[in-house]
Amino acid sequence: MINTLEVIHNFNAGPSILPKTVFEQASQSVLNYNNTGLSILEIGHRTNTFQPIMDEARALLKELMKLDDDHEVLFLHGGASTQFMQVPMNLLNEKETAAFSDTGVWSSKAIKEAKLFGNVEVVCSSKESNYNYIPKDFAVPNDAKYFHITTNNTIYGTQWQKIPHTSNSMVADMSSDILSRELEFNKFDLIYAGAQKNIGAAGVNVVVVNKNCLGKVKRSIPTIMDYRNHIKEGSMLNTPPVFAIYVCMLTLRWLKEQGGVAAIEKINNEKAVLLYNEIDANALFTGTVAKEDRSKMNVCFVMDNATIEEAFLTFAKENNIIGIKGHRMVGGFRASLYNALPMESVKYLVELMKAFALKYA
Ligand SMILES: *Cc1c(COP(=O)(O)O)cnc(C)c1O
Repeated sequence: MINTLEVIHNFNAGPSILPKTVFEQASQSVLNYNNTGLSILEIGHRTNTFQPIMDEARALLKELMKLDDDHEVLFLHGGASTQFMQVPMNLLNEKETAAFSDTGVWSSKAIKEAKLFGNVEVVCSSKESNYNYIPKDFAVPNDAKYFHITTNNTIYGTQWQKIPHTSNSMVADMSSDILSRELEFNKFDLIYAGAQKNIGAAGVNVVVVNKNCLGKVKRSIPTIMDYRNHIKEGSMLNTPPVFAIYVCMLTLRWLKEQGGVAAIEKINNEKAVLLYNEIDANALFTGTVAKEDRSKMNVCFVMDNATIEEAFLTFAKENNIIGIKGHRMVGGFRASLYNALPMESVKYLVELMKAFALKYA
């Protein structure tokens, strides 16, 4: 039995931790939204109760990402996985080529779907070493319609530290590191992210698209798949995921209160340094990826002596740490340090690693 008064340190990879204040406000709103006497779950989306929520969520995202007027923000259904098909459907003609970097399972899923709509050229891959680094030497053909990268590889714990801006249009899956660090977001023609890692609740997908790159494909696009229709209707072409968008709005408000992306990036860097330093210093643990490509969001590590990994997981669980079991593709451990994870949780994990090492050394 877990005593609900005890602090749980939640390192889940997704859906994952959100700020406590967001949980408090969201739960209050399920009972009585803003003193309307109605639950957030029972209000119409085309009402002047919900419209301000949608407007604020969109405005906050534009502000936090410093987006220019060419970039539109959409809140769509279907998770990041739907974008694997929706992006090429809207951007890639049948005879054209899209360039992809293959840095993990999510990239390869995006590659598979893009092939249904046009030609795909995989310009680099780290598959041969179980995706434990970010490829460095590669060229993107000038005539590629766009170049797709996955900025942070959630499963393997690698992250593009420098975005390889080429002369091509850029498309990025930022599901697991959006708003965690400052990037020149306007340089991307399209960014997509499932909300459940760093923005809010599961069930909504954020898409940021430069409207100038739309309307250039010859195929007929089903109404619900055409970004232009969602822009025109303000993400209300059909019933949007009302509650999930509300939770995003609350989380974005929280992020702004923390000082925005630059401020959270500083804390994210400190959290990552603290944990990686312990992994490097502690004789029991080893990081799984190339040091220069280490993710600040998903920290993957193993034990040299794999026979005691289970014991560490049990030890962690007994001490209220959850979500650090590694993905089956990598094994070992993965600690996800998203924006909402407090520094205290990282310090606590580091203390446990030290204590465990004393026990087993
Ligand atoms: C989690 C994740 C996805 C899949 O997101 P869904 O919303 O479940 O479709 C895609 N890409 C990356 C980088 C992810 O971390």
